[in-house]
Amino acid sequence: MTAGRLNGPTEKCGVVGVSLDGRDAARPLYYALYALQHRGQESAGIVTHDGFQQYDHVGMGLVGDAFGPGDLEDLRGSCGIGHARYPTAGSVDSACAQPFSVSFKSGSLGLSHNGNLVNTDEVRADIEAQGHAFTSDGDTEVIAHDLARNLLDGDLIRAVRRTMNRVHGSYALTIMHDDTVVGLRDPEGNRPLCIGELEDGYVLASESAAIDTLDGDLLRDVRPGELVVLEPDGQGFETYQLVERENTAHCFFEHVYFARPDSVIDGSLVYEVRRGLGRKLWEESGIDSDVVMPVPDSGRAFASGYAEAAQDDGADVEFAEGLMKNRYVGRTFIMPTQDERERAVRLKLNPIRSTVEGKTVTLIDDSIVRGTTSTQLVELLQEAGAKAVHVRIGAPPIVAPCYMGINMASREELIAADGSVEDIRDTIDVDSLSYLSIDAVAETLGEHRQDLCLGCVTGEYPYDIEGETTDREVNRPVIGDRDGEPAHADD
Ligand code: 5GP
Ligand code: MG
Repeated sequence: MTAGRLNGPTEKCGVVGVSLDGRDAARPLYYALYALQHRGQESAGIVTHDGFQQYDHVGMGLVGDAFGPGDLEDLRGSCGIGHARYPTAGSVDSACAQPFSVSFKSGSLGLSHNGNLVNTDEVRADIEAQGHAFTSDGDTEVIAHDLARNLLDGDLIRAVRRTMNRVHGSYALTIMHDDTVVGLRDPEGNRPLCIGELEDGYVLASESAAIDTLDGDLLRDVRPGELVVLEPDGQGFETYQLVERENTAHCFFEHVYFARPDSVIDGSLVYEVRRGLGRKLWEESGIDSDVVMPVPDSGRAFASGYAEAAQDDGADVEFAEGLMKNRYVGRTFIMPTQDERERAVRLKLNPIRSTVEGKTVTLIDDSIVRGTTSTQLVELLQEAGAKAVHVRIGAPPIVAPCYMGINMASREELIAADGSVEDIRDTIDVDSLSYLSIDAVAETLGEHRQDLCLGCVTGEYPYDIEGETTDREVNRPVIGDRDGEPAHADD
């Protein structure tokens, strides 16, 4: 196959699906979307089915804004899926809001997608050649139509398998086919998806925090290449290992930045991973200072691990909050211009003078993307009277863009794309700067490097992406290409 060009916005989103015994699905889905709000703030939507017909509601903005009074009541039925969509820089596009829903000859389909395909154009051209017109330029509609087409002459499992062999890239999906809810995780397991049990049914979600919110129990992660079919009325689920690959490509950045710290992803509690990365950061590049200070909130777990490891080593260092966050200011990352981003950092954070003045400070954050946050904060700390400022970052330098749905910065915007760590230290004007090594990340996650997607920190991707190099044999023959045998629900 030819290398895929990327089309449409990269998306890092939250997906959910439930099947319940009698109770309406809309409200639990709504709560689950609240729990996944950090994964997407541009739009939110729910699709349900009551055994006769499909209902949907999609709105722009935060979950709380996307649904008005009465909207949930109109979404009938005890099964459904939901989606929270991440904003793409500068543009707000209602055509891309999800779940994507479509009716076709043999039924109805709803689709919630987190991730990004790398061969969208190719599959789309194929479908267009057969006379189909698309309503959006996103990759989710491409999956939906490929699946709808395959459903015309096959059962659901066969159809999903065929679609999986056609589309490449990252996808954690919850799909509603008539009144059956299914979950599907791409063969590399790039984006997370897990399954949980509720008192009266089952739930699929991007993160386990959504299961907690519904008072459910996390059963396990959906395996890479696995299809999970929830039985109607929350009676159980069946799983089918449709595709198996030699290596996974789990996104390490989920653990570093994106996921909630209280979620368990691929078997690890994100908070503990972040603390572990912070400990490693001390081991690799610890420096004596009076205070260790997190960038709120993203650096907090890292800083607590770092400070604890330092204290274990006998360092005389205090862990202190030195920056106060205004929680009513949105994420700085999504501001369209650099000027606005800088203003937003100042709106968002203010130093606590007593913990800074006359002190040597180690400032800890999870990552540096453009360098806006660190540059601004260092200046703030210096103005507040810090004697010296050291910066420690709980991830390796981000040198290349993400095509799989995380960072939206392009190479030109990435401060580490073509500068050494010393150049960056000089730019953000600090006394010292260190990042974490890639090996420390793999070790802390308990994964081999070949089982992680490290594209943004190595510039080599586990996928075939036009204009980029790949670090492995991609699109190799599928190992487990057999008809899916139902596995035990509790395996
Ligand atoms: P910078 O200011 O260097 O451009 O971005 C670094 C800051 O943005 C860090 O504090 C980090 O927590 C946060 N960050 C890193 N990646 C992302 C992302 O993909 N989205 C958002 N909203 N923030 C990010
Ligand atoms: Mg941050």
